[in-house]
Amino acid sequence: MQVRTRFAPSPTGFLHLGGLRSALYGYLFARKNQGSFILRIEDTDQERYVEGATQVIYDTLRDCGMNWDEGPDVGGAFGPYIQSERKDLYLPYARQLVESGHAYYCFCTREELEERRQAAEARGEVFKYDKHCLHLSREEVQQKLDAGMPWVIRQNAPTEGETSYHDEVFGDMTFPNDSLDDMVLIKQDGMPTYNFANVIDDHLMGITHVMRGMEYLSSTPKYNLLYQAFGWEIPAYIHMPPVMRDEHHKLSKRDGDAYYSDFIAKGYLSEAIINYLALVGWNPGTDQEFFTMDELIDAFDVHRINKAPGIFDVNKLTWFNAEYIRRLPPEKYLETVTPWFDRVLAGKGIHYPRLAELMQDRTEIFSQVPDMVAFLGKLPDYSADLYTHKKMKTNPAIALASLEMIRPVLEGISDWSETVIHDTVMAAIADAGLKNGAVLWPLRIAISGQASTPGGAIEIAWLLGKEETLRRLDTGLEMLRSVN
Ligand code: GLU
Repeated sequence: MQVRTRFAPSPTGFLHLGGLRSALYGYLFARKNQGSFILRIEDTDQERYVEGATQVIYDTLRDCGMNWDEGPDVGGAFGPYIQSERKDLYLPYARQLVESGHAYYCFCTREELEERRQAAEARGEVFKYDKHCLHLSREEVQQKLDAGMPWVIRQNAPTEGETSYHDEVFGDMTFPNDSLDDMVLIKQDGMPTYNFANVIDDHLMGITHVMRGMEYLSSTPKYNLLYQAFGWEIPAYIHMPPVMRDEHHKLSKRDGDAYYSDFIAKGYLSEAIINYLALVGWNPGTDQEFFTMDELIDAFDVHRINKAPGIFDVNKLTWFNAEYIRRLPPEKYLETVTPWFDRVLAGKGIHYPRLAELMQDRTEIFSQVPDMVAFLGKLPDYSADLYTHKKMKTNPAIALASLEMIRPVLEGISDWSETVIHDTVMAAIADAGLKNGAVLWPLRIAISGQASTPGGAIEIAWLLGKEETLRRLDTGLEMLRSVN
């Protein structure tokens, strides 16, 4: 069998990490089986449609290395792949079901339905459409249609017996038919509901494996009844548990950090996001943690998708990200970090390639970079307490003496290279009979204004240049003289 899976997002905003993971699993499954991965845009819910969201979906999938074989912009034999462009094809199928008794016109108004809902609730019942319009005669229906009364088409679901199907993740599922409601297939605006369109499109597009969120598990019997009513083959089902923030909370769009684009904006690498997302809800059955896309394709097995929700742990993602950053070729790191350096160092004459070398191993997320290097652009205000360091055996008094000793030494250097600075400073410390830390610590504080820096005193001095190094030393000396 030629495997065909699809990712069928609704363009209602940015791409949610849960949605991206669904896309990923569909993509991996298709590629693993030398099948086709199809992108279908489900935009029949006009009220929830967000301008530009479709482009975000394209960009995100491409950015992550998931190319689709058929879809809106690449075409294919089963197009169009945007549901709103298919809208005229659904009604004839719905009419066919009306003819065969599997569906019927319903003329109940919103108000009537609301009244009956409230009455049912008052009786302590859950309202389910009561098949009120099922009993209209053919003539009555025609009269109402001719009179221009608004209508919808509903599925005529059985009320007795049960419907079973097999899901590749959740196993055998059985639902009593009296739990099924007569869902709307065609809405008043003439558009199909998701419930109807997914069946028609999955069939017409030859989808063999329907992969989607587990929130559709309980609706699937209704879809299967539609497939059967048409005499179509039912696809295989792979329902996936959600991606959650923790056991009790969905990773909600409202948290503000559930979108792929949010993570990219914060400086996460798409490879790290994909690698980590693959493991949220699926395991390879081995200890391997790092996967390229090709390795994921190789290892992927839908039977290793967990039934329990995947918990998205941002710290774990950050750990993956740091590892991916560490493994970047230095040129690639430099290219990626440059705009982040620019935010605080543009025009400051700092040698980016050297700074990048010092920063690569310390970068967990690119958005943390500006704060870590800003001191090179501007000496921050700092407290004289920083000169106190037990292990380095230094305090403001010792620091003052050390800096007074080292200032003329630095001033005397004419060839400002890291090696010369290093050798000259170390020789001077030895000559003075001082401990390295008692000089290097205060020197680093004076020229950086902070206790933790990428690189040590020598590297920072070189990056700042001689003039700026001496200027900062003087500021430090002034401070130390005033506190001592
Ligand atoms: N458009 C549906 C959604 O975004 C897709 C569900 C499916 O994959 O069938 O929830």
